[in-house]
Formats: sequence, C-alpha cells, structure tokens
Amino acid sequence: MSKLTDISYVKGILSKHGFTFSKALGQNFLINPSVCPRMAEECGCSDTVGVIEIGPGAGVLTNELAQTAHKVVAVELDKRLLPVLAETLAEHNNVKIINGDVMKLNLKQLIEEEFGEGRTVVCANLPYYITSPVIMRVLEERLPIDSLTVMVQKEAADRICAAPGTRESGAISAAVHYYSRPELLFKVSKGSFLPAPKVDSAVIKLNILKEPPVKVIDEKLFFRVVKAAFSQRRKTLANSLSSGLSIPKAQTAEMLSEAKIRPNARAEEMTMENFAQITSVITKFNT
Ligand code: SAM
Repeated sequence: MSKLTDISYVKGILSKHGFTFSKALGQNFLINPSVCPRMAEECGCSDTVGVIEIGPGAGVLTNELAQTAHKVVAVELDKRLLPVLAETLAEHNNVKIINGDVMKLNLKQLIEEEFGEGRTVVCANLPYYITSPVIMRVLEERLPIDSLTVMVQKEAADRICAAPGTRESGAISAAVHYYSRPELLFKVSKGSFLPAPKVDSAVIKLNILKEPPVKVIDEKLFFRVVKAAFSQRRKTLANSLSSGLSIPKAQTAEMLSEAKIRPNARAEEMTMENFAQITSVITKFNT
C-alpha cells in the first residue's frame, strides 16, 4: 500500500511544507488505497505507453502511474505543491512535473516533445471546477492520445456517459460521443478524499475514436445544433432550435419535418444520427 494513502503521512508531509488545501483549485486528495492502482491499471499505461496527468496534488496517482508507465508528465498549477512532489516522487526517474495551467499549455506540443510518436494516454483526478472544459479541450483539439481516464463528480460522469437519445443525456453527452466511446468504470465515495467533498465521484474512460460515429456535413454547425437543442431543456426541440439558432419557428418546423423528427420532440430524445440529420437539413435550407 502506498504511504501516500496513509492520512497521517500525507498530513505530515503537507504541513511540513506549509501546505493548506485550496477549495478554489479543487484540491481533494485521494486517500482510498484501492482507487489509484485501479485507475493506473484501467488507463492502459504500460512500459511502452506514456501518461499525461493533470493535477498530481501530492503525487498519489502519479506514484502508481510511474510504476507501470514508460513516462509520466504531470501538470500542476499550484506552485506550493512542487516541493511536496519533489519529496513524494523522489524514487521515480520517469516522472516530470510541469508547473502550469492545463487550460493554457499547448498540449499538442507538449505531447510531441515529451512522447514523440509513442502511444500516450491521459489519466487524472480532475479538479472539478474545470472538468468539462478540460475534457472538451482534449477531445476538440484531437490530441494524439488513445484514451482519457478521469475521476469526475458522479453526476458529471452520468451525464458524460449517457447515450444521446436517453433521458440523462445533455450537450456534453453528444459532444463526448462524437469523439469517443465513454465507459463508466467505477464509483468512488466522497470519504475517499482528504478533505471529503460534498458529493461522490466516479472514474470514467473515454476511448478516443478514429472516426466520429456519424457523418456530419458541417462539424461547427453540428455542435451549434447540439448546444441550441439543449439550451432550454424544458422547451420542445423546435422552440430551442428556433431561438438558439435564430431561425423562424415556421422554418424550424419545416426542417424538423424534413428530417422526420416530431416537432414536439425533446433534445434528450435525439440520437447522434438525429443531430447529424438536423445539421444536414439546416445546411440544405441555407444553400
Ligand atoms: N491527483 C491528486 C489526487 O488524486 O490526490 C490531486 C487531485 S485534486 C482533485 C486536483 C489537482 O489539480 C490539485 O492538485 C490542483 O492544485 C490541480 N489543479 C487545479 N487547477 C489546475 C489547472 N488549471 N491546471 C493544472 N492543475 C490544476
């Protein structure tokens, strides 16, 4: 068992370096000994696969990843954790810590420089305040990675993994399913963290697809359609699309009829194929 899941050891090392937790930076460190080994196993790292970790904290997951991965590059925003990480990860010579904001770094360049042509995965216990932006950034930039295995709040995990066309789905479900095949791996109770957050978490794995699951005529418009459709969940799809895309109601009704979709259908009933169909019809009407 890693000493980084021993509460008194972690508290001791953090206080030695004068570290106090920042709520704003989403600092809830894992102390459940079974979680990190499982994440390291499920993320697909090996001695030929490199890992990018976002937010190593005190290094509990980094330590597990370093035991299996070819190399771990971990991006940590909080400078105060650098001396802590230097101490907790001292025994590993395949770990590089980069002090920076994951939302501002050039991740494509970082992968090229650190891993070259080698296979790469992302594995992280994400800071919750930027869960969706980080996931969407990694997917939209089409980073050359095999998968993204991340811990997120349970509710976010359910939404992200929900198949488009089901009641739990939202705009992020459609976006995630466009780029990847998501899997909900396992749940993690709030008591697994120091300090304990208010809600439970879950680990999800997004397996990157080589090709999107649907053919889309105009990708930018496809995502505008998805966003508009879910912008007012209580409204019908026709009303949300009409106001979200500034298309007159009569024309929206005509387009939905052409796409063979009921005018009173709701966004959550739409499959990926439906969203692709709506995109094609709008393109057709506008040309
Ligand atoms: N990996 C550790 C663990 O599992 O115990 C810490 C996870 S904690 C939920 C999130 C970590 O992300 C913190 O260490 C925090 O400082 C860091 N962080 C927050 N915002 C960040 C950002 N924009 N870029 C990089 N790291 C960030």
